[in-house]
Amino acid sequence: MSEFSVRVSRRKFLITAGASAAGSVLLKGCLGNPPELTGGTQTQSSPTAIPAVNVSAGDAPETTKAKLGYIPIVEAAPLIIAKEKGFFAKYGMTDVDVSKQANWGSARDNVEIGAAGGGIDGGQWQMPMPHLISEGIITKGNQKIPMYVLAQLNTQGNGIAVSNKHQGKNIGLDLKSARDYILSLKSTGTPFKAAYTFPKANQDFWIRYWFAAAGIDPDKDVNLIAVPAAQTVANMRTGSMDAFSTGDPWPYRIVADNIGFMAALTAQIWKDHPEEYFAMRGDWVDKHPKATKALLKGLMAAQEWCDKTENHPELTKILATANYFNVPPNVLAEPYKGFYKMGDSKPDINDKNQGTLYWKDSLGNVSYPYKSHDLWFITESVRWGFLPPDTMANAKAIVDKVNREDLWREAAKEAGIAAADIPSSTSRGIEKFFDGKQFDPANPEAYLKSLEIKKV
Ligand code: CA
Repeated sequence: MSEFSVRVSRRKFLITAGASAAGSVLLKGCLGNPPELTGGTQTQSSPTAIPAVNVSAGDAPETTKAKLGYIPIVEAAPLIIAKEKGFFAKYGMTDVDVSKQANWGSARDNVEIGAAGGGIDGGQWQMPMPHLISEGIITKGNQKIPMYVLAQLNTQGNGIAVSNKHQGKNIGLDLKSARDYILSLKSTGTPFKAAYTFPKANQDFWIRYWFAAAGIDPDKDVNLIAVPAAQTVANMRTGSMDAFSTGDPWPYRIVADNIGFMAALTAQIWKDHPEEYFAMRGDWVDKHPKATKALLKGLMAAQEWCDKTENHPELTKILATANYFNVPPNVLAEPYKGFYKMGDSKPDINDKNQGTLYWKDSLGNVSYPYKSHDLWFITESVRWGFLPPDTMANAKAIVDKVNREDLWREAAKEAGIAAADIPSSTSRGIEKFFDGKQFDPANPEAYLKSLEIKKV
């Protein structure tokens, strides 16, 4: 079967499966088999792939296979590039399957059953999904499935989109001057309706932070709901959705396609903020420590590659294909330049440092998974009542169990990453938000105390 026909067949199957009412179940089956339709064949036939290096016997991974889930947004790029450009293969991981997940719920379901059961071994996650899965909070029957956070995939590249019907109401980064307007919608019986794609994770946190910073209680003054990504765009087009929290390429497309306008980029809310992560089932990592480090080395190489401007034409070409994101390449090219149309009379943003970054940002290394960032996600979960208040007493233990920055460090050293690019501490130190609030990882309770709107 030619490469083209493989792609077309797989795409056709995905469309058929996605159209079914039982789409996610069928999709799991599809992504599990058959092997000739997976991306493995394509990597081997890719003329641009980097040839495998000789991995010495002592470093040989315990397995050459891993099945990693991804969601078709730019956060997934390092996983896709590590596969397509041969970076995983370079370190001996020659049979990595990078599998498109129907949504975050499917990714969670698939990691619960694991690759052996037709699911996945790990992949791309919003935070703190790995901790919530490990603690049995979002799993079936509250089963605890230990997971390890291994690397951060990216920073920034997300934002808050608002329906065009709210143009001219001062809805921007600082919502204070739009507060009365938003509260008036509630009093007239049509509360401002805002969405995220999965509850209790990044997008939910960004939109909540944004409202609360302006004195708008996200649990009382507006309606916050979980809506599948594709539906958020459709609902905004029809005006039945007022806002949603979203990732590239949507922050650019929202305005370019006249769906709505951008209130803020997450880079404006919290510069160089933690975004999505690479995490795997703990049992897989424990069984395959060398393969885990091989995956990490491949991922780091891919992250460095993704950040290089000269690689962006090839990066956007690979991501845009029907096999991966199935979008026109130009909607990816603009955000990678840091170019965002904001709409609603706001000036466009043209600053690479506010776009998606994979390897380096203004504060240092992006790939390294700081424990202090896991701690913020746990603290914010307590803030909104997603986790009980007494979690704070165990927060450090929860983070220590899940965050395996030690493996990242070992892999980075083995890969020859410059010492200057390996953070010296598990804490990035005090984090600063746009509204002047600060999160000191050494004293998360002080951050909770400083917040006016919270459920704890
Ligand atoms: Ca995201």
